[in-house]
Amino acid sequence: MLNKTEPLKNNITIVGAGPAGATASMFLSSFRIKHTLIDKAVFPRDKICGDALSGKVLPVLKKLNPDLIQQLLVQNENCLGSNGILFGAPNGKTLEVPFKAVNSTINHSPGYVSKRMDFDYSLIKLLNPEYCNFLQNSEVKKITKGEEDVTLNVLDLQSKETYNISSSLVIACDGAHSICNKLFPDHKLDAGHYCGGVRAYYSGVKGFHRENFIELHFLKEMLPGYFWIFPLPNGMANVGAGMLTRTISSKKVNLKEAMLFAIKNNPSIKDRFHDAKIVGNIDGWGLPLGSKKRKLSGNRIILCGDAASMIDPFSGEGISNAMYCGMRAAEVARDAINSSNYANDFLSGYDQFIYNRLWNELKLSHTLQKLCNYPSLFNFVVNKASKNETFRQTISCMFDDIDLRERLRKPSFYFKMLFG
Ligand SMILES: Cc1cc2nc3c(=O)[nH]c(=O)nc-3n(C[C@H](O)[C@H](O)[C@H](O)COP(=O)(O)OP(=O)(O)OC[C@H]3O[C@@H](n4cnc5c(N)ncnc54)[C@H](O)[C@@H]3O)c2cc1C
Repeated sequence: MLNKTEPLKNNITIVGAGPAGATASMFLSSFRIKHTLIDKAVFPRDKICGDALSGKVLPVLKKLNPDLIQQLLVQNENCLGSNGILFGAPNGKTLEVPFKAVNSTINHSPGYVSKRMDFDYSLIKLLNPEYCNFLQNSEVKKITKGEEDVTLNVLDLQSKETYNISSSLVIACDGAHSICNKLFPDHKLDAGHYCGGVRAYYSGVKGFHRENFIELHFLKEMLPGYFWIFPLPNGMANVGAGMLTRTISSKKVNLKEAMLFAIKNNPSIKDRFHDAKIVGNIDGWGLPLGSKKRKLSGNRIILCGDAASMIDPFSGEGISNAMYCGMRAAEVARDAINSSNYANDFLSGYDQFIYNRLWNELKLSHTLQKLCNYPSLFNFVVNKASKNETFRQTISCMFDDIDLRERLRKPSFYFKMLFG
């Protein structure tokens, strides 16, 4: 039992046990560093999401333990292997891009789709109780920065008691509505860099690619938003739509209605839903996009995943970036403890790690996102790309491994793609 009359003191507290927080915890445990992990939910819990896990998840899992890829993804009946992505252009043309690069050596699917209810819980089951004090059903209500520590005011949602936890460092993994990033003034919701998303589960959707490609459709009636259909195990599908918050407000879009309208009327997809049935509700949630640089650390706090606005602005993918952040945050936290240095300058090494690795890709995705404002240009690019092997190969690399993206930095690639 916790004695909650005195503040609980520890070196490191992680707030939020989604992919970012669970990953940070697993890495801290691998460094034999004791820490507290807090989540307001009780796992297994749902998270509104497209449920697609890109190949970028694999290197993080591999670094933790090479066996995890088999255990969590390949041999897991709650995971469906996916071998590519299909882009649907506004004119109905499609571009199929396999995930696997030609020289890839992996012998399993590079991407997976798994309900977050299952995937997040399978990460939670890997937490190591020897090092991780996991407090579920515990909501952080307030965060206060002191001279020598950060104090979290926590509500025990079962007993309704509140208590404080003071820490040398907080790793903030508390998602899109992060309470921890309130200490970062430049993290206010920016409607030009934030997306609204809705998601529903369906059974009986027909016409998937034989290799379970995930599908991103840029439907004419939904631009500049996008519509997705991702195949799941047991004949289920995750279906949803996303749009920039600024556009939702300015055009007064009801995303749920727009999604249902497309399912009923769009000529490219309506037949596939003829016998489909919705299972459960259509739910919505926000996507903080990584399309502008922000401060990611300071005030003895390191921001990760959605709390750091790390979602890819084009694909809406955020799980792998969240896990990458969690891994890097744990490494920087270890170094901070070892050198007893929690100064802003020291922690800013984390910002550099993250942006060195992800910024070029996020910038490119931001450019692609803007393409959705110009349907004819989008059609042109899909037309060109469907005939261009260089382009398809490079996109495959993007999904295959974070290390293979160097080609995207070269202007010659874009020149070849458009005019080659
Ligand atoms: C509609 C939609 C579709 C998406 N589709 C995809 C997709 O297909 N693929 C993909 O990769 N990404 C997708 N994303 C993005 C992805 O869901 C997020 O990027 C990812 O969940 C981020 O992980 P995280 O660990 O940072 O945060 P989360 O997964 O949101 O976890 C945050 C955790 O913090 C806890 N928490 C929050 N506040 C508190 C508090 N005050 N006290 C204690 N605990 C707290 C929550 O209970 C939660 O468990 C989608 C997002 C949306 C909205």
